[in-house]
Amino acid sequence: MHAPDSSFNDLDDGIDFSDVQQIKRGLIASMVRVVGFDPDSAGPHDWFLALASLLRGHLSEQGMHTSRSQYGKDVKRVYYLSMEFLTGRRLMKHLLDLGIEPQVRAALTALGQNLDVVAEQESDAALGNGGLGRLAACFLDSMATHAYPGYGYGIRYEFGMFSQTIENGQQVEHPESWLQNGSPWEIVRHNLNYTVRFGGRIVCFRDEQGHESCRWVDTDDVIAEAYDLKETGFGGSIAVNLRLWSARSTQDFDLRYFNEGNYIEAVKEKTVSETLSKVLYPMDTTLMGQELRLKQEYFFVSASLQDILARFLKVHKNPRLFPEKTAIQLNDTHPALAVPELMRLLMDHCGLNWEDAWDITRNSFAYTNHTLLPEALETWPLDLMETLLPRHMEIIYRINHYFLQDVRRTYPGDGDKVRRMSIIDDATRRVRMAHLAVVGSARVNGVAALHTHLLRERVFPDFDRMYEGKFVNVTNGITQRRWLLQSNPPLAALVSEAVGPQWIRDLDRLRDLEALADDTAFQDRFLAIKRQAKVRAAALIEERCGLCVAPETLFDIQIKRIHEYKRQLLNILQVIARYNRLRSANAPDLLPRTVIFGGKAAPGYFMAKKIIRLINDVAEIINHDPLVRGRLRVVFVPNYNVSTAEILIPACDLSEQISTAGTEASGTGNMKFALNGALTIGTLDGANIEIREEVGGDNIFIFGQTAEEVAHTKANGYNPWDWVNADEELRRVIDMIRDGFFNMEQPDRYHPLINAVLNQGDPFLVMADFRSYVEAQAAVDALYLDQRTWARKAILNVARMGKFSSDRAIHTYARDIWGVGSMVADA
Ligand SMILES: *Cc1c(COP(=O)(O)O)cnc(C)c1O
Repeated sequence: MHAPDSSFNDLDDGIDFSDVQQIKRGLIASMVRVVGFDPDSAGPHDWFLALASLLRGHLSEQGMHTSRSQYGKDVKRVYYLSMEFLTGRRLMKHLLDLGIEPQVRAALTALGQNLDVVAEQESDAALGNGGLGRLAACFLDSMATHAYPGYGYGIRYEFGMFSQTIENGQQVEHPESWLQNGSPWEIVRHNLNYTVRFGGRIVCFRDEQGHESCRWVDTDDVIAEAYDLKETGFGGSIAVNLRLWSARSTQDFDLRYFNEGNYIEAVKEKTVSETLSKVLYPMDTTLMGQELRLKQEYFFVSASLQDILARFLKVHKNPRLFPEKTAIQLNDTHPALAVPELMRLLMDHCGLNWEDAWDITRNSFAYTNHTLLPEALETWPLDLMETLLPRHMEIIYRINHYFLQDVRRTYPGDGDKVRRMSIIDDATRRVRMAHLAVVGSARVNGVAALHTHLLRERVFPDFDRMYEGKFVNVTNGITQRRWLLQSNPPLAALVSEAVGPQWIRDLDRLRDLEALADDTAFQDRFLAIKRQAKVRAAALIEERCGLCVAPETLFDIQIKRIHEYKRQLLNILQVIARYNRLRSANAPDLLPRTVIFGGKAAPGYFMAKKIIRLINDVAEIINHDPLVRGRLRVVFVPNYNVSTAEILIPACDLSEQISTAGTEASGTGNMKFALNGALTIGTLDGANIEIREEVGGDNIFIFGQTAEEVAHTKANGYNPWDWVNADEELRRVIDMIRDGFFNMEQPDRYHPLINAVLNQGDPFLVMADFRSYVEAQAAVDALYLDQRTWARKAILNVARMGKFSSDRAIHTYARDIWGVGSMVADA
């Protein structure tokens, strides 16, 4: 389908990136022609822009080769729809993928620049809150590396995740304007856009044959404009496209106002519609039902589906082939409106009848659930939906009507079941987005074995019984390319030397490290690398917090979103207990520790913000107490993001994964730490369970109640005071917080926190798990004394992380859910 003269295999100004001289010339040309600066006076940021622009051209070329080959083979494609993509910085990733880091480094050196300094100029693309967004980024990397015909769709938020500072111990939020200096990676496609409609009304009519068709009229329209980012895979020959939509007003000026001479009113409409892609909602697992959020969801879903369908119809005339050529993955319920949107497009635009449209739709989608917390299951008010999306509401009612007919047929006379399963909650007059996603998808997956089990037993038991085989598990994974190769080059080099470089594409190869776990020379090198990473992390802490921490101490790290279920509170209680022990008598068994926290709280989340403040208040007292100097330090590292994680994770000895059992769907931080040779202290929750299975119970510190025990404890009338009163050490810790020991200037500061936990039932069982946590921490101290044994266990952790590669997850999705093949396997 391409004319022979459209070949671009040897573009004559293409650069051979294996040649330092050519890169240097290319950089100078890019500086002059694209950045527009004199190379003699350019600074590191200008050189970053020049380098990124140079690479963007190369990546675009790669992307075109990939795309041509996919069209040529007419492969089945997979589309990953996600409100969030937490990709972090891109420069070093691209250089490693393309295998040209040494050459680019040399070229920059010849220009008087240092690659590391240049790379630091890039701001994090923080288009996500936490785990869910980072998972999407790891998945794109795995799809590109293993040549799956994947494609990502999301929103180009002008302001990503807020940046965080700590002032007087409290979180302060600042806008994160990652686009302030422009993003040199984007390929802007002003001409590739779609109209997205809101509001209006429906008019239906019948033609002569009696076919009813409906039109959606008098709508308020917004334009979705495409911005593309190329995601490279390792080896660099394949690029997956990430298409992010930006909102643009349909008219720059509303002529009605303009003609009346009201210039300001005339541009107001433009500002309103363009707010759609302004901000990422900084909410993680707790949702608030705001109209703008619903509009964002529909905005990116509609643009993406119009684009997907247009791409399909370019090659295929028959829409019935759609599910054979397309798989669409919904990352949580945020894009669940894709179900009625595809129905609408197939019926109202392609002229299909309901039955055919429904057949296509339910065979095209799959849905990933990410949470068991009831407050995180999305629902939207019927009134709002009817006003904003009247056509979709009609379609949802009809989907529900046929679905409930099925339920009644399967379970005659069970009215309760019908009410429970309905997509519409009649009592609250809301649409249950998770039910819509389950009914409209061929497969639904949880993200860890326990999570999927609980999903089937507790959240969707009726659906699970009715649709046999619909619910499956795909345990999350992380890409070893970013979380070891890129973030920990010394350990990556040691591993490659020991077992060969194949682990970069096949993490199971790490298994060969087991044979070296007892090798003292290998242990020494492993420990030296850990120590080097701790020195780097200490420098970051010094720079961000002005605190000196000693790399000889045990680095105990909990970095993740601040949330009650993740239990940073449990951690700080244990720190206070340790402090008391250190102050009281001689405590020879307690080893010197540096306890490091990091993470953002949703700006409206009162309890999470209190917890941040408590950590900082406790740190202030402990770090200034001469009695514990050199034995305990507490640090809160501000503005946790991907780049911070890349420095802290390699430096970790002890990884804190202490959520209440049954609340963390999977966790992925836990995997990153273990891959970098940290030992985990954790509960039997999420993927921790599978991590224990892989590394062995002797190589992980497990404590606390199991999910079943938690349910049992709660069912038997849990009273946290009983646990506090029965435990003198815990009692003392609580008294200190209540009496203002850490905040003399305002002693009642934590009364609301204590009250909320102790007098309102302690829903996350902090008090019930305290004692067993303290005991597990004592076991950590004892083991760390014996550095050889510690190193042996840490090495075994690395060796046994194969399962937790996102490559394994993507292979599973491809085989069991999408039915797509790798382009390399096809070739
Ligand atoms: C991996 C990652 C997360 C997820 O961490 P959990 O411990 O699984 O909650 C969140 N934020 C960033 C920046 C990450 O890299």
